Amino acid sequence: MNDRIPLAGIIGSPVSHSKSPRLHNYWLKTYGLAGHYIPMEVRQEDLEATLKILPKIGFVGINVTIPHKERVLALADLVTDRAALIGAANTLIFRKDGKIHADNTDGYGFIENLRRGAPAWNPADGPAAVLGAGGAARAVVASLIEVGVPEIRITNRTRARADVLRSEFGAKLVIYDWVQAGNMIEGAATVVNTTSLGMVGKPEFRVPLDGLTPKTVVTDLVYTPLQTHLLQAATEAGCTVVDGLGMLIYQAAPGFERWFGVRPDIDEKTRAVVLGA
Ligand code: NAP
Repeated sequence: MNDRIPLAGIIGSPVSHSKSPRLHNYWLKTYGLAGHYIPMEVRQEDLEATLKILPKIGFVGINVTIPHKERVLALADLVTDRAALIGAANTLIFRKDGKIHADNTDGYGFIENLRRGAPAWNPADGPAAVLGAGGAARAVVASLIEVGVPEIRITNRTRARADVLRSEFGAKLVIYDWVQAGNMIEGAATVVNTTSLGMVGKPEFRVPLDGLTPKTVVTDLVYTPLQTHLLQAATEAGCTVVDGLGMLIYQAAPGFERWFGVRPDIDEKTRAVVLGA
């Protein structure tokens, strides 16, 4: 067992678009580590069997993406508090004792990216305005609460999904109707787009942005394109802006460390590698 080359990878469907293999294989090469990181297309009906076989053939862990992020929680032996709170896992560790440990590092990636991109950002500065209530929003909301943001305003095209978040995450969440999204931004210290609006191939982000001021920190989870319409408008309004690529990179670091034993440094070269430059 011990002379096996450690393997990691990402399971999902579809998975071919994932930038994670490029990132992890770059880190393996940079640190001169033995190992491989492989994208694996896994259908829903094959998930359970896949999780059983991977540890036996040399896998030390995997990342998990759509559509398996929720279901892997039920198949894991141990689930971190933050993964349980978010209701999804993106990182699995296959332990030597045979147990599967499930974690969610999306919130960590989100906050780390925000802190690095906007060093003056202070969670206590005021309310955060979150657009969207999908899977990514759950991780964002959980992490904003964890770092002490006093109020989280949230709006979603389908209001019922925002209501569910409030019932799960509690009274710090204040729900706005989607048509009130522009008003919600007024007076917010932090604005986060967690919808897919503005992404290549999706409808444009058209929420009124008159409420932005130079004090607002604005971040977009969409990173294709890197400079979204929201970030362009925020830059023009004098805001501090943070693009979404860093979240993708920072969420990957804890898994890489657990699997391969080195905490990777993240710099401009890392960003360029992920962008394929
Ligand atoms: P999801 O669970 O499918 O949620 C999609 C969200 O977008 C929902 O709130 C949805 O509202 C909203 N939406 C979609 N089309 C819309 C429209 N035409 N008008 C208004 N709202 C619309 O997806 P997710 O996993 O949360 O991902 C959301 C985005 O974040 C994606 O672009 C994804 O690539 C990005 N993301 C980035 C990172 C990163 O590392 N930077 C990590 C995770 C996700 P409804 O509920 O009304 O459908």
